[in-house]
Formats: sequence, structure tokens, C-alpha cells
Amino acid sequence: MRLAAGAAALGLLLWGAWCGGRRAVVPVDGTAPEVAAENAPSAAPAGGLLALTFDDGPRRSTTTALLDGLAERGVKATFFLVGQRVENNADLVERMEAEGHQIGIHTYDHVSALTGLSAADFDAQVGRTRRLLTAILGRSDFPLRPPYGAVDPAVRANAGGPIYLWSVDPEDWATEDAAAVAEHLVSHARDGDILLLHDIFPSSVEAALRAVDALHARGFYFVTVEELLAARQITPETGVSYRCAYP
Ligand SMILES: [Zn+2]
Repeated sequence: MRLAAGAAALGLLLWGAWCGGRRAVVPVDGTAPEVAAENAPSAAPAGGLLALTFDDGPRRSTTTALLDGLAERGVKATFFLVGQRVENNADLVERMEAEGHQIGIHTYDHVSALTGLSAADFDAQVGRTRRLLTAILGRSDFPLRPPYGAVDPAVRANAGGPIYLWSVDPEDWATEDAAAVAEHLVSHARDGDILLLHDIFPSSVEAALRAVDALHARGFYFVTVEELLAARQITPETGVSYRCAYP
């Protein structure tokens, strides 16, 4: 699909839809490549911005190792936390904040889906986690990542912040093969992608750091989701889903 020159504003309005699948760069000047993104060679020279995101933590052993590795590399990431795990790991949450990472809400006990919940049950997952984070960090403006990306009108209405999904999913939870997960990330990552990982697995931490090193070598720079959207002149809105921010 192509956008006519001058339709960039429309593209921005429809941005959520655009990010549902791979596409070429919006040809604002008519010179964009004709090749569809999914057909482009994965080893092509690349570069740009990526947002690494981690769900389901914090977990003392693995999250600490990850934070150490990210700090060594000067990389900022985004963590979507499980409230139940926050309760005994407040120092890890403080460390994330102090080191420039972005913090968001996953749920309180990783309920299978936020869709279809009563208002009280939704609050017990999202509101309760927001209050835990507020007690630690002194603010309440946290984005939401719903488990499995399941969103419906009630989730949008009650999210309490923007909803951040993802565009690259190596399914790291299903394997202990860190090299394979890293390779998936490196071969799929494009400027503007949001990468999904889980910092509760040692293999995922290893995969993340391997991928960071390989992607650094290819000219990528890692930012938080908030920074990625800002770099693309996107102002996140409460209740709106974002899964990537291609140029
Ligand atoms: Zn999860």
C-alpha cells in the first residue's frame, strides 16, 4: 500500500492501523523504496530507534542481571511490571527509574486477560498496581500493557494511560535458546519497532543483551517507548494503543 505525497497527516491519524503490519517507510517525498518491508532482506544495512520492552517482572535474579547489562551498554528500556512482584522488589523499581528506564503496568497477578473484567476486578489488577507504583515513585502516570495484548473498549476506557503493545515478538518464553531469540530480534528489528521480551527468564536476559550488541553494531539506538513516540512526533493518549512508531 502506498500513501500519496501529502497524505502524511492522514497516515499519522491512521497510525495505529498502519502499525498492525509491516510496511515500507511512508513515501512523504515520493522517493521511498517500492519494496514492501516484509520482503526486504533482513541483513540490509539498518539503523534507527528501537524500544526494548520487558513484561512480567521484576524478578530479583534476572532483572538485576538485565539492569546491570543495560547499564553497561547505556541502553534504556521499558518495563511492564506485575504488581505482585513489585511488592518485594521496590528497590528494583527505584533502580529502573533512577537509571532512566520507563515503567508501566502489566497487571497485579498476571490475570489471563483484562478483557471482560468487572470494574472492581479491573481495578484489582491495574489500579492496585498503579497504587503500588505510586507509593514507590510518587507519581501515577504509568502506561498499560495488557497481558497477551488483549484490548477491548472497556480496557481502553479504564486503562488510565496509553496502551503500549509491540511489533516484534520472538516468543522468548517458549524457549531457552538465547541465540535463537537474539537472532529473531536482530533479523526482524526495523527502525521504530517495539520489541517484546520477558525479564523473568535467564535466557531472555542473555538474548536481550546479545541482541543489543548486534543491533548496536548495525546502527540502532535503544530508547524507551515514550522516547520512541516522542521522536516520531506522536503524543501518547490515554486509552489509545501503540504498537510501533515507524518513520
Ligand atoms: Zn505477561
